Amino acid sequence: MSLLYKSTRSEDVTVTASQAILKGLADDGGLFVPTSIPKLTRSLGELAKLSYQETAYEVMRLFLTDFTEDELKNCIQKAYDSKFDTEEIAPLVKADGVYYLELFHGATIAFKDMALSILPHLLTTSAKKNAVKNDIVILTATSGDTGKAALAGFADVEGTKIIVFYPKDGVSPIQEKQMVTQKGTNTYVVGIKGNFDDAQSGVKAMFGNKDLAKAMDQAGYQFSSANSINIGRLVPQIVYYVYAYSRLVANGEIVEGENMNVVVPTGNFGNILAAYYAKNMGLPIGKLICASNDNKVLFDFFQTGTYDRNREFILTTSPSMDILISSNLERLIYRIAGNDAMKTKDLMTALTTAGKYEITDSMKAELSDFVGGYADEAKTASMIHDLYEKTGYVIDTHTAVAAAVYRDYVASNKDTTKTVIASTASPYKFTRSVMEAIDEKYASMEDFALVDELSAIARTKVPQAIEDIRSAKILHDTVCDKTEMQSTVETILKLK
Ligand SMILES: *Cc1c(COP(=O)(O)O)cnc(C)c1O
Repeated sequence: MSLLYKSTRSEDVTVTASQAILKGLADDGGLFVPTSIPKLTRSLGELAKLSYQETAYEVMRLFLTDFTEDELKNCIQKAYDSKFDTEEIAPLVKADGVYYLELFHGATIAFKDMALSILPHLLTTSAKKNAVKNDIVILTATSGDTGKAALAGFADVEGTKIIVFYPKDGVSPIQEKQMVTQKGTNTYVVGIKGNFDDAQSGVKAMFGNKDLAKAMDQAGYQFSSANSINIGRLVPQIVYYVYAYSRLVANGEIVEGENMNVVVPTGNFGNILAAYYAKNMGLPIGKLICASNDNKVLFDFFQTGTYDRNREFILTTSPSMDILISSNLERLIYRIAGNDAMKTKDLMTALTTAGKYEITDSMKAELSDFVGGYADEAKTASMIHDLYEKTGYVIDTHTAVAAAVYRDYVASNKDTTKTVIASTASPYKFTRSVMEAIDEKYASMEDFALVDELSAIARTKVPQAIEDIRSAKILHDTVCDKTEMQSTVETILKLK
C-alpha cells in the first residue's frame, strides 16, 4: 500500500514521500502531511525484541512507502552507526521514578541528530529516485541545535550545499562555536542580527520566492529544507517513541498495552508532534505533555484556544525553545480541523497578518490528550539542582523545563502513569547554565574548566563533540542583517 502526502493548505496536489522530502515545504506554503496515519503492523511484544535500527525500519517503512526495502535499510544503516556513542542509540535512563529518553548521543549531542543523521541519506536517495539533476541547497534557520546537526549531517555530502542562519546573539557560546568551526567545502554559516523567528521567516520567504527559484534552477540548484517542517525529519522522530515504549516493555517496567505519558520540551512543535503521530499509529500514549519555557505561546494556546505570537520574545537558558511561531503546530491544527485544508489556510493566514488565530470549540475538544505547561528560569534551574542533589543525574536546561513541568503536573493531577521525558540535549551543551544551577560557586569558572568539573560531578565522559571544539579554528564569520538574508544566499551561490 502506498501512502501519499498532501499540503495542509490545499486539497489538490498529492506527492510521494520522496517528493515531499525533496520539496520540504509545499508550493502553497503549507506543510506536507500523510493522507492518513498508518497503524503499527507489529505487536508491541514483537517490537520489544527489536534493536533501534530494526524499530526504525518497522516505523519508517510505513510512512516512506516509495522507498525500497534496500534503500530504506541502507539509509538507516548509514545514519545510526558509530556516530552515536552508545549502541542503544537512544538509551532510557530512570532517575527519581521517571524515564529520561536520552536523545543526545549523536554527533552534536542534541536530539536533532536523531533525524538529521538520516535526513541527508533520505534526501539523496529521494533525489536519485526522482531523477533530480540540480544540486540540492539546504537552507536552514536554527535556534542553535538544528544548525550544527544539519551541518554535521550534510558536510561533504555530494550533490548538496548547506546554508545555516542563526540569531547572532541568541544561541549559547558552545552552540555558536560548534557551528562556526564546521568543516566541509559545501557548508556556510551566517549569523543574523535578529532572533530565531526572523531567521525562520527569512528562510520561509526564500522558499516561497518564485523568481529566486528560477534563478537557482538556471544555476543548477534547488532548495530543500532540513528544518523540522520536512517530513524526512518528522518520520525518524516517531521511531524513538516506539522504541522507548518497547524498552519499557522489554525491561518489565510496563505491561503490553499499558499507557505511558510523554513530556516534551517544545519549541517548533516537531518532537511532540512525532509523539502525537506515534499515538495515532496505535502506540499506547496517554498524555502528551507540552513543556514551554518563558516563551509560553503554546501553554497559552492549550489554555485558551488562541495562538498569539504578539508578545515580547524572551531569551532564556533553553535557547532551542525560544520560539514564538511553532511551525509544526500547523500539522496538528490540520488534524483537529478534521483534515480541512481551507480552514487551516485561513488560520495560518491570520497568523501571518494579525499574528494570532483562535480555534473553534470543536477543534479544542480534539486537544484533550495534550497538557500544556511551562517553567520559568528559576523553576528550571531548581529542577536541575534538585535532581542532581537527589540522584546525581545531571540534565540540561531544555530537559529541565520538561522535568519541572512534569513535577508540577504530578503535584496537581496525581497521575501515576509511567512517564517518559524526552531528554533533548546533553548537559555538556549548556554547561554554564547547568553548573550555575547546581551551585553558584561555578559562576566564576571558565567554560572549559566547567566542562571538566561537570564530568567530575556527573561521572560521565566529556563527549567527543565538546573535545572537538576545544581547539577548533573558526571557519565562518559572516554576519548579516535580517533583511539581507536573500542577498547573502545569492552571493554564496554566485547568482548575481
Ligand atoms: C530543537 C530543540 C527542542 C525543541 O524541539 P521542537 O521539535 O522544535 O519542539 C528542545 N530541546 C532541544 C535541546 C532542542 O535542540
